[in-house]
Amino acid sequence: MKRYIAIALLMVVFKMSFSQQYFDTLQLRKSVAFMSDDDKMGRMPDSEGSNAVASFIVDEFKQAGLKLLCNEGYQPFTYYKGWKMGDTNMAMFDGEPLQCFTDYAPACYFNTSMATLNADVVAVGNGKNVDWSKCEGKWVLLMPGPDDRHPSLARNAIKNGAGGVIIVDAAKAPKYDYYNALGVSANKVLTLGPVVKVSEAVLERMLAKANMDVDKLRNNIKKDKDMVLPLGIRFEATTNFYRNEVNAKNVVALLEGSDPVLKNEYIVVGAHYDHVGYVEKPSAKTGKLRTYIYNGADDNASGTVGMVELAKKYASQQMRPKRSIIFVAFDAEEEGLLGSDSFFDQCIAIDTSMVKAMVNLDMIGRYNPEKGLKIIGANSSKEGVDLVKKLTKKADIKVKCEQKTLLFSASDHINFYRYGIPVFFFNTDTHKDYHRVSDEVQKIDFKHMQQILIIADELIDNLANRKKNLRYVKI
Ligand SMILES: [Zn+2]
Repeated sequence: MKRYIAIALLMVVFKMSFSQQYFDTLQLRKSVAFMSDDDKMGRMPDSEGSNAVASFIVDEFKQAGLKLLCNEGYQPFTYYKGWKMGDTNMAMFDGEPLQCFTDYAPACYFNTSMATLNADVVAVGNGKNVDWSKCEGKWVLLMPGPDDRHPSLARNAIKNGAGGVIIVDAAKAPKYDYYNALGVSANKVLTLGPVVKVSEAVLERMLAKANMDVDKLRNNIKKDKDMVLPLGIRFEATTNFYRNEVNAKNVVALLEGSDPVLKNEYIVVGAHYDHVGYVEKPSAKTGKLRTYIYNGADDNASGTVGMVELAKKYASQQMRPKRSIIFVAFDAEEEGLLGSDSFFDQCIAIDTSMVKAMVNLDMIGRYNPEKGLKIIGANSSKEGVDLVKKLTKKADIKVKCEQKTLLFSASDHINFYRYGIPVFFFNTDTHKDYHRVSDEVQKIDFKHMQQILIIADELIDNLANRKKNLRYVKI
């Protein structure tokens, strides 16, 4: 009897050390540090940093012996973000051409790709309290105050019948400007009048033609706020933009199941590897332009590295699981869950009904004993919550199966759930460094991350080998 206990104990110890060998904290730290290093510049899709990380994941998959899917492991997709300037922008008044970026700049405020207008100019002050009937089809010249939002002013003028908008920008050389968030979907291209920004110097030149100067105009505006003053000059401009297409890519690999029938069923294990990039702005202390990099160590280098280590573990096991497992690193999650949204559309010839469960790892590096590890969406199957409870009964960390919360729609698993696939979203909750430049590798808790991966491993093992699949529940 004792001997059996000893053997059983030995097996437990063996299994523990076996797991820990796979989720070695030094290895986890090394990979998270690589992904969240400054030289990755915050892993924006279609950037050098993103490419370096994607190729790292491909190499890891390849070395582990997994089958790379799609194009050597890359699953490409595209999306639109913002606009780029076309090459037919021009502006002139009374036959005098203006210099782009010195005298004027075109603005893209309405998802308008091409707009042109040749008309008279009327000055309307700051564009509030205007008799718009006098502006029909004309250029309205706006002189916004420092707190006025240019896109809203321009939109209002166009909505009220103005043919085009000239905004006097305090900056001497107006910068190219675009703005996409006016309640207009990025996919909808509108045809509205042109908007250009001109410098104060150009305004002076225009007013000189109308025998006026800037001070006089400002005084008139102060006196009579709803004035519409025809300047007696013609202005002509064409603005031209095209949508900026981003080339993104998921990284996908397959571990084929060992059961001749069940290998046609799939478990997907995913994590997004992109983050939000960097910004350049003047430092609060010195005023000098500085680069602030969002390294996203927790969000989501932690989950990506976890997914990769799980993939390596499964690939190296002698006994392959019965069902097939797809390991995927999603791109462009931060842009609106776009990588997971494209997953089934692009080069993966798998019917959604053959995917029996999805495990998503997003932010698993900041375990907080008060909050515990959250496994969100476990209740998207009849058996999910009980299964998690059973598997984590003896776990050293606190595990909570969250009911439907705001977080439920906040990551990639939602694009599997919507196809009727049971999901499990592993997450150690948000924290004060979330989406801040302080989300750094030094703050990752690798010891607990290891525990979390042991739990994920047991869950995946169960999902890939269980007799009956989980039964989906809409939550
Ligand atoms: Zn994330």
